[in-house]
Amino acid sequence: MEPIRSGSSTVYFGGDAIDALRADLDRGGFSRVFVLTDSNTREHCLPVFLKWDPALADAIHLSMPAGEAHKNLDTCRRLWEELSEYGADRKSLLINLGGGVVTDLGGFVACTYQRGISFVNVPTTLLAMVDASVGGKTGVDLGVLKNQVGVIRDPDLVGIYPGFLETLESRQVRSGFAEMLKHGLIQDRAYWEALSSLAGLDTLETHIHHSVQIKNRVVTADPLEKGHRKILNYGHTLGHAIESCFLDSDSAEPMLHGEAIAIGMVLEAYLSVQTCGLPREACDQIKTTILKFFPRVALAPALRDRVMQLLRFDKKNAHGKVLFSLLPDIGQAEIDQEVAVDHILDAFDYYAR
Ligand code: NAD
Repeated sequence: MEPIRSGSSTVYFGGDAIDALRADLDRGGFSRVFVLTDSNTREHCLPVFLKWDPALADAIHLSMPAGEAHKNLDTCRRLWEELSEYGADRKSLLINLGGGVVTDLGGFVACTYQRGISFVNVPTTLLAMVDASVGGKTGVDLGVLKNQVGVIRDPDLVGIYPGFLETLESRQVRSGFAEMLKHGLIQDRAYWEALSSLAGLDTLETHIHHSVQIKNRVVTADPLEKGHRKILNYGHTLGHAIESCFLDSDSAEPMLHGEAIAIGMVLEAYLSVQTCGLPREACDQIKTTILKFFPRVALAPALRDRVMQLLRFDKKNAHGKVLFSLLPDIGQAEIDQEVAVDHILDAFDYYAR
């Protein structure tokens, strides 16, 4: 599969990822090489990764606890200190081997340690492969505020090796798949149709490549997030609000990001019919496909109310109107679409029946 050039970085796939990392290690002249994992990727991915190149036998292993709760400045501080204790200098390399938490946080640690050292990302979740691998966003959370602190800088290279997905929980694979469906819906009808007809999620290699191409096309057209990049928010306005409500709630089981986005995409397909002319049959097709992969979740009236409150109090949404990225048709997206708050309640009813 062709490598994908993204900003100052290149994304390599499969065996090419191994070759590219070897070449980087050969010619980089690095004083020390560090590999950052979390507790799960240390167990499941590191043993495989260390076989990629004999030089990695000398790499120093750094680790962090798994999970978003640890994507914070305390973890960064500990890693900055460890780098310092191990004598990391400006010629050191940090390889981030993990999901989006490790690649976001590890990228930030590398960008800030001694004002910036080289880093490489080796994403090991589907979400990190298809979503976090391009665009150069690094960062950490500040309390409940997600990605509040960070910088934008591309890694030296990204190595996508789908074999790592073998140990990833199927629910996590499905969560990343939601973003792939979104890529089809906003940019590429044929791709959406190919994904819709999949019987299972175990042979995704060529699709991962296609998703990275689409995401890369969008972020490179709008590197500073002036406008066009907002099409990537399709499904995310309501999806994020639902995700937050599930996180806040004591009784509800936590929902993965992609699971919430899947619901958001059905709701926002309905809003697309009302607002920018998505044909009703296309909307029904979106709902059928999404429910094929993501069984319907009961959204209690209290949760709907909480979502509506979150939208009303969001500073970006003034005068009872909320701005969405919506679909005039499958494969196309429009940003800054105004939706009357009352229409959103109908969208919940549409999802539920
Ligand atoms: P994650 O990194 O928490 O990984 C999910 C879980 O899978 C973790 O428990 C992890 O330890 C485990 N895991 C990872 N790889 C594994 C493997 N191969 N086998 C077994 N277990 C494995 O979560 P995620 O969904 O990958 O990423 C979410 C994060 O990514 C969020 O913090 C989000 O903000 C960020 N993100 C960043 C961008 C960006 O552009 N930088 C884009 C999307 C998301």
